[in-house]
Amino acid sequence: MSNSTVIGRFAPTPSGFMHVGNLLCAMVAYLSAKSKGGRFVIRIEDLDAMRCPKTRAIDILELLGAIGITSDEGILYQSERTAAYKAAEDLLRARAEIYPCFCSRAELHAPDITRLPDGGILYPRTCKRLSVQDRLERAKRINPSLRISVPNETVTFTDGVCGEQSQNLESACGDFILRRSDGVYAYQLAVVVDDGESGVTEVVRGADLLYDTARQIYLQRLLGLPTPNYYHIPLVCDKTGRKLSKSEGDSALRLFQTYSPQQIIGELAFAAGIMDEPRPTDLKSLIPLFDIGKIKKEKIVF
Ligand code: GLU
Repeated sequence: MSNSTVIGRFAPTPSGFMHVGNLLCAMVAYLSAKSKGGRFVIRIEDLDAMRCPKTRAIDILELLGAIGITSDEGILYQSERTAAYKAAEDLLRARAEIYPCFCSRAELHAPDITRLPDGGILYPRTCKRLSVQDRLERAKRINPSLRISVPNETVTFTDGVCGEQSQNLESACGDFILRRSDGVYAYQLAVVVDDGESGVTEVVRGADLLYDTARQIYLQRLLGLPTPNYYHIPLVCDKTGRKLSKSEGDSALRLFQTYSPQQIIGELAFAAGIMDEPRPTDLKSLIPLFDIGKIKKEKIVF
């Protein structure tokens, strides 16, 4: 099937080393778009410039290049997109309630705060209830973050790997942050604005972000942006069942010091279920074989 309107993407955060799970995500996202005759874009999610040195972004792009993944467009760097996020914030202000939040870390992590399954918190709307006067008083001492008030609405979508998903915004997400207190825009806003900007039609990413999707769909709707198709693929674990991390010990770079890119592609494609046996191959040869339905639904062991 050829559909030139398909646009896939890979959007790494260069806050640490790229691990095998990130590499697999990039591979699957690339294969998924290319197998439909689509285009592929790479975006560097370096919103937090302090934690994301430029050199690490270059390492990631080199590693992707080594397995044959390049961007069909220029690379988007989120650190250069603040004006676009500000414009989206202004639009959202006209369409939803956005309010400053002065709560400290300690207040947000107090024992009585409800925890969400993704490790976040269900914000109890403390600052939504502040009077204008209170807000002005607090703003003299504290730089607030910005939160968006979510309605009591359920967002439903079908994930191409995980199936039907449904989340009530009020009880499963809560009023979430659009801009941090240090002025850095939040991932949830940036990802929506940038996927919209690049015309992304499908998002392939790790299952750790499945829980974030309802919030992102809510923002897409408010901003009048289309919702892409979502595919959340299982996280990669080592043989002991431990999820890989962005630490140096799990860096995919180490693999490249021992194995050829073709060996790495073959082993990963086999581990994920894309190939029936682990034989060296290149990414182009996998394009005609690719079927997202073959991706393992359980955790992937590498
Ligand atoms: N930047 C995120 C990460 O590296 C991925 C975001 C996304 O794919 O939506 O985990």
